[in-house]
Amino acid sequence: MDIAVIGSNMVDLISYIHRMPSEGETVEAPEFRMGCGGKGANQAVAASRLGAEVVMITRVGNDVFADTTLENFRKNGIDTTHVLRTDASSGVAPIFVDPESRNSILIIKGANAYLSPADVEDAREDIAKCKLIVLQLEIPLDTVYATIELGKVLGIPVLLNPAPVAPELDLERICGIEFFMPNESELELITGMPVDTLDDVGKATDVLLGAGITNIIVTLGSRGAMWAHAYGREIIKAPVVRAVDTTGAGDAFIGCFAKEWVDHGDVTAAIRAGNRYAADSVTRHGTQTSYALADGSLPAD
Ligand code: ADP
Repeated sequence: MDIAVIGSNMVDLISYIHRMPSEGETVEAPEFRMGCGGKGANQAVAASRLGAEVVMITRVGNDVFADTTLENFRKNGIDTTHVLRTDASSGVAPIFVDPESRNSILIIKGANAYLSPADVEDAREDIAKCKLIVLQLEIPLDTVYATIELGKVLGIPVLLNPAPVAPELDLERICGIEFFMPNESELELITGMPVDTLDDVGKATDVLLGAGITNIIVTLGSRGAMWAHAYGREIIKAPVVRAVDTTGAGDAFIGCFAKEWVDHGDVTAAIRAGNRYAADSVTRHGTQTSYALADGSLPAD
């Protein structure tokens, strides 16, 4: 086993609409699509498609979306031993896309809100076989903190992607983690510092280094990523591509980074690979549908 992802799964319910109905009104919309998402699941799928052995610790509901998610994990070669059924709805994201590609998104966490520290403890034996723990914030914060503690006890490095951002994230309780990977807006909200220039971004990372985090990797969209550590900081540029849809780019970056770092332990090379993989993903529509396999091809369906 290489990577334990402890996080969320969602089913995206995407309605392509001419316009939003007003109160009391019913309107017809031209198209509907369903897709598997959720930050935890996206990162697990990216790493697994690149060849990592991934175990997913997550909760699904008691509905058809749970079956869709389980099938998606299996299809992508992810270990589902710790995908737990919950007497609740699955996590879903109804998304409305208008003709100008503007999105309105609702997130219903559903079963994800029930992933508990006890669930993580129950998966301890399998987590202990992994080389990296990957976390985001679409599950309860107490579960995130408990997992970080477990990582310390087991001596397994932890990567935390603070998304979606939780301003109440307690930096004291995440100190000692190996990798903290925000995008610019998450960095701004967590540190309360501006991120208008790269110099600003660097200063904000200093706060996190001071809080005892070993490596801060800030994704910078088309500009690539900044790596800040005790001995300095550097920018690692992303390839120039024609972007058509950047949804899920951060998750592609993290999944690929995790796989490369677990294999080679070289942070710069892992960031370079993450940039390449995420930049490739933004040249296609969708989230998981835009994630390539290790040979650059896309999965059959
Ligand atoms: P998020 O999706 O979390 O907002 P970013 O927008 O920072 O994260 O993107 C994550 C990574 O995806 C970047 O670090 C970069 O590697 C890649 N990326 C995103 N947008 C582009 C783009 N327009 N061109 C090339 N690479 C991109």
